[in-house]
Amino acid sequence: MTTAIGTDRAELRAELSGSTYDLLVIGGGILGTSVTWMAAQAGLRVAMVDAGDFAGATSSASSKLVHGGLRYLQTGNVRLVAENHRERRALAADIAPHLVKPLTFVVPIYRGGPHGAAKLGAGVFLYSALSVFGDGMGKVITPHQALARVPALRTEGLRAAAVYGDHQMNDSRVAVMTVRAAVDAGAIVLNHAEVVGLRKTGGSVTGADLRDRLDGTEFGVSARLVLNATGPWVDHLRRMEDPDAAPSIRLSKGAHLVMRRHEPWKAALTTPIDKYRVSFAIPWEDHLLLGTTDEAYEGDPAGVSATEADITQILDEAGHAVRDSQLRREDITYAFAGLRVLPGGPGQVAAAKRETVLTRGTGGMLSVAGGKWTTYRHIGRHVFDTLAHLPGRPLGDDLADILPAVPLPGLASPDAVALRLWTDRDPGARMDPLVARHLATHYGTIAFDLARLIREDPALGERIHPDGPDIWAQAVYARDHEWAATVDDVVRRRTTLTVRGLDTPDVRTRIAALLT
Ligand SMILES: Cc1cc2nc3c(=O)[nH]c(=O)nc-3n(C[C@H](O)[C@H](O)[C@H](O)COP(=O)(O)OP(=O)(O)OC[C@H]3O[C@@H](n4cnc5c(N)ncnc54)[C@H](O)[C@@H]3O)c2cc1C
Repeated sequence: MTTAIGTDRAELRAELSGSTYDLLVIGGGILGTSVTWMAAQAGLRVAMVDAGDFAGATSSASSKLVHGGLRYLQTGNVRLVAENHRERRALAADIAPHLVKPLTFVVPIYRGGPHGAAKLGAGVFLYSALSVFGDGMGKVITPHQALARVPALRTEGLRAAAVYGDHQMNDSRVAVMTVRAAVDAGAIVLNHAEVVGLRKTGGSVTGADLRDRLDGTEFGVSARLVLNATGPWVDHLRRMEDPDAAPSIRLSKGAHLVMRRHEPWKAALTTPIDKYRVSFAIPWEDHLLLGTTDEAYEGDPAGVSATEADITQILDEAGHAVRDSQLRREDITYAFAGLRVLPGGPGQVAAAKRETVLTRGTGGMLSVAGGKWTTYRHIGRHVFDTLAHLPGRPLGDDLADILPAVPLPGLASPDAVALRLWTDRDPGARMDPLVARHLATHYGTIAFDLARLIREDPALGERIHPDGPDIWAQAVYARDHEWAATVDDVVRRRTTLTVRGLDTPDVRTRIAALLT
């Protein structure tokens, strides 16, 4: 096995325990990764650890939307929508145009439905106005026009539809690219490394004790400041700091299904279920993503999963607007669930903007949880600014300014990358256009590194499963450059094998062999 510098676990553990960091970030979901990236950009020595894989929890269980949040208009939160739109457009235009793609959304308006055409028409118009019509003008269209965009749309009782523009992504891939951006900026990161205790000096948290979940090695990290960005586990870590810490958050479970799609969809569906809830049916990875549920959750965050009842509810709710022929259980390829972190609960705490909960404990540890994937840079920046201005300035005064718009690695037009991958070889030996497109939209110019691997070993250009576009070069690249250490890291988060239902026992065995 060839291991690039930066992914050898023993080396990383030695590096982590060998010096004192300015900042230790516990939790490598998108929020922890964002703060790590910002802190590294400011010139700090920063380390980030995650008990599982990077983005292995909530950050790979989202609806994959980079959105302004049409729903927030319902509660009159116009300013929040405008801010979300700004960040959405920055991601799509400047930070990650190779990974974030535009998508039209259709809101069907049925006879007897919770919202009328006039209200929804005004809603989508305002929504698009709040992004200065950057994605076209929200408007009302006819049932016929809606059907042309969504072929599986139910038309019985359909009076009209509203349309608006947003964006979507593959959350796991955007997260790993952000980890890479943080490492490029100088951060040290390690996944599958669980914090089992906090180190204290004179009552202040000054580091953590860790256990490598893959081989049981115990080690420690020392730091001037510690950030707890453990999402649904945030209170668990707060209790490590102070056993009497009152709960700061509540959890709500959201489940999704991925289904095989029978026809191409040009748009997604946002179907109002009642006055407040919507059901999404989103074309994603050539499949259909359906969801989501919203139910209070009080169990162990590690145990969250999509249950049979969740699956039934999601299919029933999708059935308001999607024809039965597209909702057959045998077409489900994957089901998953994640936990929303909501402010509040007994012992109320300060809730900062965007439903992000930010608290400082008795030992000086800052804890952050909640908010949207879409605004991760904004939240990361806000948390970093808070850390930088803590009383006594524990991070010091000589922090470098952070550039406003540093792109994610691989920035390029995905069309250009796909074309180049395809034309780089002679006719007859060309990369399958579907594979080229898949690589271009999940790696940007890093796809050229994969192409080099294939030139050195043509077998790496083979598909891992004949029914999907993922190729062996991706698995090798994930192992050597993207911190993939387990089979699930590769099949679930670095590639799209699991979501497509293609992580067969044979595929898993071959990937396990590649990893050892
Ligand atoms: C159902 C659902 C749908 C959503 N859809 C969208 C959407 O479409 N668009 C959008 O903008 N937002 C969406 N969101 C919100 C978004 O997904 C979250 O805000 C975001 O992922 C939160 O990231 P995080 O880093 O705070 O948490 P997480 O991703 O959960 O990361 C926390 C990490 O901490 C680690 N950890 C825990 N304990 C320890 C320990 N002891 N030691 C080390 N590490 C530890 C965990 O392993 C985990 O990886 C959705 C959320 C849900 C639940």
